[in-house]
Amino acid sequence: MNYYSTQITNLIEELRRLPGIGTKSAERLAFHIINMPKEHVNHLAETLIEARSKIRYCKECCTLTDDELCPICASKVRDHSTIMVVESTKDLAAYEKTGQYDGVYHVLQGTLVPSLGKGPDDIRYRELEKRIQDPDHPVREIILATNSSLDGEATAMYITKKLKPTGIRITRIASGVPIGGELEYIDEVTLSRALIRRIEL
Ligand code: ZN
Repeated sequence: MNYYSTQITNLIEELRRLPGIGTKSAERLAFHIINMPKEHVNHLAETLIEARSKIRYCKECCTLTDDELCPICASKVRDHSTIMVVESTKDLAAYEKTGQYDGVYHVLQGTLVPSLGKGPDDIRYRELEKRIQDPDHPVREIILATNSSLDGEATAMYITKKLKPTGIRITRIASGVPIGGELEYIDEVTLSRALIRRIEL
């Protein structure tokens, strides 16, 4: 790519590291950025730096948030006795968009990956265990909404095995969600249906 100046090449290279961005898209973005007014570029750069430095994990549900508690955990109108376990903040957002769920979440920030030896300590599972032991906030139901991929299923199975003895009701979202389907790409109607038709484990 040495037909571009070093600066342009560097910019293209950095953009190309982002997921879903190939060389062509990176070039297009790079030239778009170079042609943007300087103050817009400054604002974009500041927003990136600020987002990265200020965003943290909610101390209750481990989603990505700006404050100690995310807006859902801080809400008084949500049903704090129902916890939906999801893989990522993006999955949480997918369920929020349905407008059909009024419980709270637990965001694992990943899944178990048995084939790579990724275990419960590599995700935010221990936080869930601790959470359901809090006598001030009794939990009535845990809805397992991990993806229906191999690792998502393994994670749901592991949590069921671990938490079933607590006597808390454990359910799994219905398999209307396509196998291997990434939750964030599934439409809201399908998600709502999967939630309503959840099955007892
Ligand atoms: Zn939270």
